[in-house]
Amino acid sequence: MLVNSPVESFSFAGREIFLKRDDLLHPAFSGNKARKFAYFLDHDFAGVTKVIGHGSAQANSLYSLSALAKLKGWQCDFYVDHIASHVLTLPTGNYAAAIANGTQVIDLSSLIAANPFLLREFKWTCHDYIEHQVLAAEPDTLFIPEGGRCQYAEYGVSLLAVEIETWAMQQGLTELKVFLPAGTGTTALFLNQYFVRKQSHIRVLTCAVVGGDEYLAQQFYELNPNAAEHPQILNVGKKYHFGKLYPEFYAMWQRICASGIQFELLYDPLGFMVLEKYLPQWGASPVMYIHQGGLLGNETMLPRYLRKFGKSRTTL
Ligand SMILES: *Cc1c(COP(=O)(O)O)cnc(C)c1O
Repeated sequence: MLVNSPVESFSFAGREIFLKRDDLLHPAFSGNKARKFAYFLDHDFAGVTKVIGHGSAQANSLYSLSALAKLKGWQCDFYVDHIASHVLTLPTGNYAAAIANGTQVIDLSSLIAANPFLLREFKWTCHDYIEHQVLAAEPDTLFIPEGGRCQYAEYGVSLLAVEIETWAMQQGLTELKVFLPAGTGTTALFLNQYFVRKQSHIRVLTCAVVGGDEYLAQQFYELNPNAAEHPQILNVGKKYHFGKLYPEFYAMWQRICASGIQFELLYDPLGFMVLEKYLPQWGASPVMYIHQGGLLGNETMLPRYLRKFGKSRTTL
């Protein structure tokens, strides 16, 4: 079981907001992916000896899956589309930590290259390859889709919703806006769905960090066809590519980290930029930002930012 993560007060853009510190959830297993994988931590899987995942070699889900496997005593195989050579020569961040946890990171591009007919004749994706070639041969294996985008995520995200609901009640808040930046939107969707179904006055607002607003809305529909239960999407105002470096992201990251709390460099900078844009429209209504962890990724992102924009604040 994951413990209740704390809520702190946080000064931002000239006012106080509440910060849900899901980065402090558990020393080894925290943040967004821990919530989405909590189902697997809390349930018994008789006979299962291995968990298989798929995604990018720097993904937060790679590290979180390796931590889950370690807690469960499972082996972990993680399939990636490719591994960049600099990652192999100097492993850092999520990749290095997952390897240290005993996870096998398997490069699918070499496997698929060895079977070109699969690609040509069947147009297989990596997901197809795992489904047909790997899982069939390994029956005692649990397969978790990329980034934990699946119904299983509802379990852990609902526990997060209960924590927020209980906290809001204790604070005597009759309304609350919960804001978090979205990738697949799985977390934002299951949170808002919980609050709507409980007829609570808590509502979830989010912004699209991966893809645009339409892609995010489409992701919501895939998990839940009822648009009345979808979170509100706040428009970012400009097209940003996921994982690319932007000076305004770096500047925002430095601002929020000046508080003494570490934030991550992929989702939080855009999250706080969007929050700053919309906060003035919300008057005095209480706002909570969810810190979704992911800090190990900074070990890879920060050197990239420092190389590109330098250490000096004055150059920004
Ligand atoms: C995965 C992740 C997200 C995105 O979560 P979704 O449920 O896919 O929207 C946001 N922040 C961090 C730190 C993450 O690791």
